[in-house]
Amino acid sequence: MKLKSLELVGFKSFAKKSELHFATPITAIVGPNGSGKSNVAEAFRFVLGEQSFKSMRGKKGEDLIWNGAVKLSRQNRAAVKLIFDNSSVGGQKLLNIDFDEAILERVVHRDGVNEYSVNGSQVRLRDILELLAGAHIGPSGHHIISQGEADRILNANIKERRLMIEDALGLKIYHYKKQESERKLEKTKENINSVESLRREIVPHLKFLKKQVEKIAKTAELRAKLVALYHEYFRHESAYLNRERVVLAEERRLPSEDLKKIEYDLARARKVLENSQEADKQSRELLEIEGQLRTLRARKDELFRDLGRLEGELSAEKRLLQRLGLEEKNEEHRTIAWREVEKLAKEIEEQTILEKVKELVVNFLMFHRQTPNNRTLQEASQTIEKIGKEKIISEERLQKENTNEKEFLEKYNELKIAAAKEKDESRAAEREVFRLMTAQNEIAGKLQMLRVREEKLKTNEEEYKMELTEAVAIAGAEAIRYEEISDETVRAQFVNEPRQAQTERRRELEKIKIRIEEMGAGGGDDIVKEHQEAEERDSFLAREIADLEKTSQSLKELIAELDEKLTAEFKTGVAKINAEFQKYFAMMFGGGEASIEVIREKKRKRAKLEEEAGLFDEPSGVVSLLAEAAAEEEGEEGIDIRVNLPRKRIKGLDMLSGGERALTSIALIFAVSQVNPPPFIILDETDAALDEANSRKYGDIIEELSKKSQLILITHNRETMSRAGVLYGVTMGSDGVSKLLSIQFTEAVEAAK
Ligand code: ATP
Repeated sequence: MKLKSLELVGFKSFAKKSELHFATPITAIVGPNGSGKSNVAEAFRFVLGEQSFKSMRGKKGEDLIWNGAVKLSRQNRAAVKLIFDNSSVGGQKLLNIDFDEAILERVVHRDGVNEYSVNGSQVRLRDILELLAGAHIGPSGHHIISQGEADRILNANIKERRLMIEDALGLKIYHYKKQESERKLEKTKENINSVESLRREIVPHLKFLKKQVEKIAKTAELRAKLVALYHEYFRHESAYLNRERVVLAEERRLPSEDLKKIEYDLARARKVLENSQEADKQSRELLEIEGQLRTLRARKDELFRDLGRLEGELSAEKRLLQRLGLEEKNEEHRTIAWREVEKLAKEIEEQTILEKVKELVVNFLMFHRQTPNNRTLQEASQTIEKIGKEKIISEERLQKENTNEKEFLEKYNELKIAAAKEKDESRAAEREVFRLMTAQNEIAGKLQMLRVREEKLKTNEEEYKMELTEAVAIAGAEAIRYEEISDETVRAQFVNEPRQAQTERRRELEKIKIRIEEMGAGGGDDIVKEHQEAEERDSFLAREIADLEKTSQSLKELIAELDEKLTAEFKTGVAKINAEFQKYFAMMFGGGEASIEVIREKKRKRAKLEEEAGLFDEPSGVVSLLAEAAAEEEGEEGIDIRVNLPRKRIKGLDMLSGGERALTSIALIFAVSQVNPPPFIILDETDAALDEANSRKYGDIIEELSKKSQLILITHNRETMSRAGVLYGVTMGSDGVSKLLSIQFTEAVEAAK
């Protein structure tokens, strides 16, 4: 026997610990109404994990706990223990646990908390359900038929029927697995969504970083190019500058020396020129002497005039004196003389003689002709003496002036010679200065040109230095680690290169610099690292998604597989049930036909319509219409029941009598239970509606069933009781507590009344 015992403590009316042992295939529980028999069936439901309180005639967990009576106070928990023999039979264990005895227990507390355990270890409800599903004892309760529920399977809708049948066929486990897979699939979808959204979130950042990294790479490339170009440029520039320095120094050397020499010469020439300025002084002196000479000559002229005048006066006086002497001597003489004078005068008039002589003659004539001689000889002598003296003075002065003049002239001539000489020297000096100045200018011009070039060189050097600094700033120290050219030939090539080439390089450098600047990618390493991390994260997320999708795919496959299995097993199960149903139905009704069939709800409705329209007799027409309907709409799949009573034209379940319904239900329940026989079946007054004849048939079938499943029958039916191996009587005293006792058949018959 698989089912060993049931133990109730505080469950409903079983306030005290009560035990039922199931040592025989059929156990009957008998007792008066309200004694607590159905509570036993509910105890089974309870311990098997039933969640519907309604099916245990309660509203909440608390309703299942002994509620107390006058003599026995209420309890805080209800506990039911179900014990199976779980030893292997043919290598198969009833429940898939590693124990030979399986003890399932469920406890409910007043606060509604439930506890489940298997062999003392606490488990989840789910574990209990799965464990039992494997043994075809699902919670749908197809194997526990409660009181008045015999035709439940007939009343149920197609979907409920399907669930009952699936449960009975042991397909529940597939449902659990499917649900579990669907839950997992749902969870996986959620995970995919959240990972995808995480991935989407990082996309813009990743894009940004990628662009940055590309920029950095491009910049690095440009920088490398820049460094190479810098090396090229610096090598050339450095060679150029060195050469230019040397060349300029060399070019400067000669003119500098020349200039020094010229400057020296010029200084000397200037000195000479300065000295020759003395000539001016001499000419000034000359001018002075000339002036003095002029004054002196003026004075001399005056003296000459005085002398002339004096001489005139003197000769006049002397002539006067002479005349005075002569006058006294001879008038004759005078007349002769007069003639002579006149003659002379005449001659004078004809001929030209010196003015002086003329004057003298005129004077003489005038004197002799007109001037009355009123002076004495003495006076004349005195005058002559006086004039003579005056004349001597003048002559002396003239003499002196002559001496002076001579001196002056000597000096003058001396000076004049000296001045002429000085003038020549000065001209030569001037020429020399001029020549030197021209040369100096020439050299200065050359040097100026050099200076311009030197300035240019200086500018170039400064630019070169600046370029070095800038190169380090832009492209790092590497940029200025260029190698100087050591090879002379190469150097020569370098320096002979047209300067334009460097300008070109410079232009190219500037272009690259601008491009680097435009790139503006800073903090390269950080960005690269961040990008790498972001990419790693992205590919991690992508892998995660791929994994999740794989999981999702395999879950879908699993679900499809389970569906397939369910469908296939359900189909074969239904076929098996149909065979059994037909058998039990025929046993119950002594013939007739009964079957179940899988339909879709829409089909069923349509079928019903067709049936109502009286088209049932033309199955082919129905089938084609049904096929159309199925194609139109996919409805809920379920189980339809069809019966055909012998000798009666009854086509629908609705047309069955109460007893017929009970018999049909029983036939179906038994049929279902026999495909995958559960370890036990509980039937709570399923036989209530049966007459004596049918009770016997029922009894026969029960015995048949008990070969495969243990039966626990709650009954008032004598026939049924007679088939039981063990009978339990349930009683309830005034304390409201249900009590169990093992009884004999006769006692049972008595108790059942
Ligand atoms: P019948 O033959 O008429 O079907 P039965 O023997 O099946 O009757 P039950 O319906 O199992 O009787 O028993 C119901 C009894 O259990 C009632 O007397 C009810 O008062 C009692 N009962 C139900 N729940 C509790 C509870 N929580 N505490 C105490 N007693 C309870």
